[in-house]
Amino acid sequence: MNRFRVHEVCTYSRVNGPGVRAVVWTQGCSIGCKGCFNPSTHSSEQEGIEYNPIELGRTLGKLHVDGITVSGGEPLDQAVHVYDLVRAFREVNPGTALLFTGYTIEAIKKSPEKRRTLLQFDAILAGPYIDAATEIWKGKRLVKVTDRIPESALLPERRVEVIGNEESVYMTGFPTKSVLGMVDQHR
Ligand code: SF4
Repeated sequence: MNRFRVHEVCTYSRVNGPGVRAVVWTQGCSIGCKGCFNPSTHSSEQEGIEYNPIELGRTLGKLHVDGITVSGGEPLDQAVHVYDLVRAFREVNPGTALLFTGYTIEAIKKSPEKRRTLLQFDAILAGPYIDAATEIWKGKRLVKVTDRIPESALLPERRVEVIGNEESVYMTGFPTKSVLGMVDQHR
């Protein structure tokens, strides 16, 4: 089976769901929303880093975090690996699991593989990016699988983090389009 392709892993984020979270951004997206703000995550061929999803899930689960967030790229294009990742995380961590996907909930339900993966999460923000919206998160539909993540905790706080190491610096969170524009101007 193909290895799990990952764009980025963050071991401490405060802007991708409630509390302190481990975040996995998957590499590869087949959806192609018009105006996507993260095109570097689209290619699934040579880009990204390969992981064993079970080992990664266990490693992240041992951190002092309140949960795991999986985003992309498109996580459900690698539904089997994301299932293994979140299941392994849950084996060692009692925290919550949150998924961002560009698929609609109707499309997810048609695929047994995607549906099974969806059920590993406590909550899902589902639906494609809408280019015309002024906020990046507009158009997403909240689907609650459990009641462990209150809806109020999922309201976008419009905060961003800048995370860096010796190899790269990147911004994460839910910036407005005007914030994204300001960042682009300074690149
Ligand atoms: S699903 Fe996400 S990564 Fe894929 S095109 Fe849409 S916004 Fe971009």
